[in-house]
Amino acid sequence: MKRILGLTCVALVVAACGSQSGGAAHRAAAVNTARLTAADSEPGNWMSHGRTYDEQRFSPLKQITADNVSQLGLAWSYDLDTAHRGQESTPLVIDGVMYVTGAWSKVFAVDAKTGVQKWAFDPKVPGAAGPNACCDVVNRGVAAWEGKVFVGTLDGRLIAIDAETGKQVWSVATTRPGSRYTITGAPRVVDGKVLIGNGGAEMGVRGFLAAFDANTGKEVWKVYTVPGDPANGFENKAMEKAAATWKGEWWKSGGGGTVWDSMAYDPKLDIIYFGVGNGSPWIKKLRSPGGGDNLYLCSIVAVKAKTGEYVWHYQTTPGESWDYDATQHMILADLEIGGKTRSVIMQAPKNGIFYVLDRATGELLSANPFTTVNWTTGVDLKTGRPGEVAAADYGTTGIPFVAMPGPGGAHNWQPMSFSPLTKLVYFPVTDTGFPYFPGKDSKTHELAWNVGTDFNAGSLPEDPKIKAQLRAGLKGHLVAWDPVQGKEVWRAELHSPSNGGVVSTAGNLVFEGNSSGEFVAYRADTGERLWSFATQAGVLAAPISYQVDGEQYVAIEVGYGGAFGLAAGELSRETHVPSNLPRVLVFKLGAKGALPPLPATVALPFNPPADTASAATLTEGKALYHTYCSTCHGDSATWNGVLPDLRRTPLLKDRAAWEHVVLDGALTERGMVSFKAEVDSAASEKIRAYVIHRSTEDKRVEQH
Ligand code: CA
Repeated sequence: MKRILGLTCVALVVAACGSQSGGAAHRAAAVNTARLTAADSEPGNWMSHGRTYDEQRFSPLKQITADNVSQLGLAWSYDLDTAHRGQESTPLVIDGVMYVTGAWSKVFAVDAKTGVQKWAFDPKVPGAAGPNACCDVVNRGVAAWEGKVFVGTLDGRLIAIDAETGKQVWSVATTRPGSRYTITGAPRVVDGKVLIGNGGAEMGVRGFLAAFDANTGKEVWKVYTVPGDPANGFENKAMEKAAATWKGEWWKSGGGGTVWDSMAYDPKLDIIYFGVGNGSPWIKKLRSPGGGDNLYLCSIVAVKAKTGEYVWHYQTTPGESWDYDATQHMILADLEIGGKTRSVIMQAPKNGIFYVLDRATGELLSANPFTTVNWTTGVDLKTGRPGEVAAADYGTTGIPFVAMPGPGGAHNWQPMSFSPLTKLVYFPVTDTGFPYFPGKDSKTHELAWNVGTDFNAGSLPEDPKIKAQLRAGLKGHLVAWDPVQGKEVWRAELHSPSNGGVVSTAGNLVFEGNSSGEFVAYRADTGERLWSFATQAGVLAAPISYQVDGEQYVAIEVGYGGAFGLAAGELSRETHVPSNLPRVLVFKLGAKGALPPLPATVALPFNPPADTASAATLTEGKALYHTYCSTCHGDSATWNGVLPDLRRTPLLKDRAAWEHVVLDGALTERGMVSFKAEVDSAASEKIRAYVIHRSTEDKRVEQH
C-alpha cells in the first residue's frame, strides 16, 4: 500500500503527497527504502536526519517565501520534558507525526499539526554517563524505518521504539559496558540497517561505525577507524594500511577517531560516507611518538553499504593535534565544475577549510579556507595534503600556540544546507582562536578528559581588560558559500560564536537560530534579514520545514549548552540569552501564537565563606578544577549560564555538604557523579578553596 502510494506521489500529485497526514491505513513511521530513496518526491515529510540521503537539508516547499515570511507566526510550541541543557535535535516529520529528541537521549512523538504529544520515551540514561560526554548530554535525533524509530543513547545503547506506541522493541549495547563511549549523533537507516557511531575521543576510546539489523538489533557489520594492537591482528586491509601511519603503542590510549555525527549515503554507488574525529590524546607527540599521519583520524571515509568494506578516504588534517574532527555535516550534490557535472561530497570541518571531493573516487577538487586559519599554509590539490605551520605543532615545539580555529571548530556539527536553487551552501561559522598549551602526559583519567593539552595553563586570564579583549574577539556569522568558486557570497554577522544549524527552502529563505535567542529568516540569495522570533533560549539545533494538510511549517528545537556553552565559562554566559527553556517551536503563515512570559528568576547572592586559602592551595585547586570541573562548569569557575553557578552555591560554606556532592555523588542522577576515584578529601578541599576564591573575586567586581 505504502509503495503504491509512494509511486502515485512521484507520478501525479507531488504537492498533495506532502500534505499526507497519515491515514488509518498507515502504520506510524512507515518508511522504507523506496520512500527514503525518493524522499525528494515527498516535500511535506522530513523522513531522515538530512531530509534526503544526500543530506542537503533543503526543503522544496515554497508556500512560505521571502515575500510573505513577515507573516510567519508561532503555530504551536512543545515544552521538552528534559534538563535545561543543550538541545541539538533535528526532528523527523513522517505523515503528520514529529519525532524529536532532547537532552539525556529522551524521545518525543508529537502531532506535527497541533503539537499534542502522542508519546514520550525515556531511555533512563544513568547520570553516571554524563561525565563521559565531552560536550554536554545532547542528542541529535532519531532515524525511522518500517514502523520503528531508533535512538542512540548517551550510555551507548541503540534502541528501537515502536513509532505508534512509544514502547521499546529492542535495545542493544553498541559499546562495551564500562567504556567511555557516548552516543550523541542521529542514526541513519540504509537498506534495513541502522548505522550508528559514537563519541569519546577526548576520553580514550577507539572509534568505529556499526550497522545493526533494523528488525532484530543484531550487528551486521562494524568498521574501526583506527588500528588496534597489531599483536592481535588486523580486522581488515584498511586497518593494516592505517597501522603503518602510527608509531609507538597508540592502542593503549584508544587512538580516538570517533564517528560521532555525520553520515551520507549515495544509493547509486551504494556507498556510505562517514566523518571521523580527532585523535586520542589530542597531542600527536603523545599519541604517536615519532609522527605519522595516523589514519583515519580527521578523515572522510567511504565504505560499501552492504559490508562496510573500505572504498576510499580523504584525510583533512594528517597527524593532527588540535581536535580538528572531520565529523561535521557532509552534503552530496551535483555541481558544474570546469564545464563538467561532478558528483561531489562537501564538508566544512572544524579545521576551517571547505572541501569538495569527487564522491566516487575521493579525488580532491577544491579546498578553500572559509575563515581565518593559521595552522596551515594551504592545501596542495595534487597531494591533498595541507602544509603545516611548524609552530602549530605545540606538542613537538613545547611552546603554546594560539590556533585559529580552536577545538570548537570554525564550523562544528551544526548542520549546513545546500540549496539547488541558489547553488550555495549555508552554514554557521565560528571565528575564535584557542591557546593550546602542551601538557606533560596523557595519563588516563577515569572521569576527566585525556587529551594531553593543558587547560589550566590556557585558562581565562584574570586581567579583566584581557578578558574583555578575548570577549570582543569571539565572533560568529552565518555564511553563504559558493562551493564551485570556493568563496563567500554573503554573511550575516552574529553576536555569539556558537549558533544554530541551518535549513534553506524553495521560498528563497534560509532559517537559523542563534545564541542570542532569536530564530531568524534570511533571503537565501542576498542574506537580507527578513524576520525573527524571540526563542527564550539560545539555539544550537537545525530547523526543518514540512507540510501537513496543505500548510507549510518551519520547526526548530531550542535550548543552549553544548561544548562551547559549557566549557567557555563567562565567555559562553555573555554570548547567550539568559533564559534557557527547552522547547520545540513551530511556525506557519498567519499564526498568532505567543510563548508564555518568562518565569521570574532569582539569582542566589554571592555569599562565599572567608577566602583564607594560601596561594599554594589556590594554585593546586585551580589546576584540579581545570582537570576535573572546567569542561562542564566552565573555564575558571566563571559560570557558563547553563549549569548551576558554583560561585553562588551554598555548598561552598559547608565542607561536608560539598563532599557529599563531589565525593559521595549526591547529584549523580543529574550527571554530577562522585569523583572519589580520582579526587580525595584533601583535593576536594583545594577545589572548594579555589571556587571560594573565585566567588570572592567576582563578588568584589559586582560590588564595584
Ligand atoms: Ca573531538
